[in-house]
Amino acid sequence: NIVLLGMPGVGKGTYAGLLRESLGLLHFSTGNLLRNAVKQDSALGRQAHEFMEKGSLVPDEIVTALLEEALSKSQIEKGFILDGYPRNIKQAKELEQLLSSHRLTLDSVIYLGADENVIVERLSGRRICSRCQRNFHIKNMPPKKDGICDYCGGRLYERPDDKKETVHRRLNVYRTQTRTLIDYYENRGLLQRVAANEEARVVVKKILMVLEENGTYKIQR
Ligand code: ADP
Ligand code: ZN
Repeated sequence: NIVLLGMPGVGKGTYAGLLRESLGLLHFSTGNLLRNAVKQDSALGRQAHEFMEKGSLVPDEIVTALLEEALSKSQIEKGFILDGYPRNIKQAKELEQLLSSHRLTLDSVIYLGADENVIVERLSGRRICSRCQRNFHIKNMPPKKDGICDYCGGRLYERPDDKKETVHRRLNVYRTQTRTLIDYYENRGLLQRVAANEEARVVVKKILMVLEENGTYKIQR
């Protein structure tokens, strides 16, 4: 099982989507789970909404409950990629408990680093599929047909929290709460760093190489 760690906008969701296909793993994104909960107007979604709108972290209990529910509904023994969780030390500890309660382990944490100007640019042109949640970018990864998802034909939309002020809040939350996880996982010998300034397919290749080198996954070619 793999965790993708890195600033908002570094491309975790995009890489997870591509990796899932190469590795045959499941993919859980707490951002996607939360956006679905909001869309369905569930009790948890109603609570989460205001935090997401502001670009703050949603309270740990809500996110962890959603993740737990999603894991329990899936065949997680196959292995999975987590994107967007954990985002603070408390969540990292909760993840350990969650995994050990399923007799699973965390095999690798990939830290994705990119320059902040690249990040802001990625966020400002990002478009999301309203149906399958895949990511596109108006310049770097445009869909074949304007506004339409290549994979499922769903409509693409711009995330409300990708507007400028909210992006700054999210980057700040990352610096003050999430960044400390780099040391946390480094100390546990789980961290591997991958530079993510280049285009998505190149980054994914590098991630696959790192995972193969440390023996986490056998890549089929
Ligand atoms: P990004 O990584 O680009 O910020 P996400 O889709 O991962 O995008 O997250 C969007 C929002 O959902 C966050 O700004 C936050 O409000 C909420 N969120 C997602 N994951 C978590 C989490 N693990 N803990 C708390 N809040 C979360
Ligand atoms: Zn789609």
